[in-house]
Amino acid sequence: MKKCALITGASGGIGSEIALRLANDGFCIAACYYSDEKGILELEEKLRHTGAEYKVYKADVSDHEQIKDVFTDAAEVFGGVSVLVNNAGIAQQKLFTDITPEEFDRITAVNFKGVYNCCHCAVPFMVSRKSGKIINISSMWGIYGASCETVYSATKAAVIGLTKALARELAPSNIQVNCVAPGAIDTKMNGNLSNEDKAAFAQEIPMGRFGTAKEIAGVVAFLASEDSNYVTAQVITADGGLT
Ligand code: NAD
Repeated sequence: MKKCALITGASGGIGSEIALRLANDGFCIAACYYSDEKGILELEEKLRHTGAEYKVYKADVSDHEQIKDVFTDAAEVFGGVSVLVNNAGIAQQKLFTDITPEEFDRITAVNFKGVYNCCHCAVPFMVSRKSGKIINISSMWGIYGASCETVYSATKAAVIGLTKALARELAPSNIQVNCVAPGAIDTKMNGNLSNEDKAAFAQEIPMGRFGTAKEIAGVVAFLASEDSNYVTAQVITADGGLT
């Protein structure tokens, strides 16, 4: 039986490319999303062409019950989730003093509790199989810290902390837990930037350009593959040399 990879945020720029790449690498795909119906329909169309088995789930990663239902269904349909990619995330650019307590709660619920929820539902099956891969999408800002993205940066730093601790806890069960920290990637998340802002930012990047979602999917594909079986508790930064 083929292994199943569950990707959250699959309707978005990076998540769609990860789902496609893992489908092409031979995984069955459980594609989870929350918003962007157009994005998920486009992904489905592309997944159909790969010939991979797939199922789409609409669920809020911040809601443990909804995520539990997704994993229960994926166990029935695919026999369990072997690779979990925690990619769903939201960002917000605001001065720290302008961030409301409600906004703080939402961003931490999606970006950090969402990772906990998915890992919490995925780990029992992986432990029972003594095999599994968890790949968390953090951000270079979780390492470096972004002005006007304080809470976002903090949630992404928390994801790195969770990755390193969980990796050590699950290592005896042959489960690898790693993190990818992308730099500036050309997706809707950066849609608020004008072309001038983007060009100015690109000049600060040693490689002189934004990264592509495909380039992040390539790093994830390595971490999902058997080539990375001895790699755990790591943060792989893909930011064109910026940090
Ligand atoms: P995107 O906005 O294109 O996609 C975000 C995805 O997350 C969408 O599929 C959306 O449906 C999903 N999502 C949002 N809230 C959700 C919720 N409550 N439950 C379930 N899914 C939810 O963004 P992207 O650029 O593809 O970002 C993907 C990941 O990469 C995010 O975690 C982001 O923080 C991280 N990242 C992005 C960049 C960048 O420059 N684009 C840089 C560093 C890290």
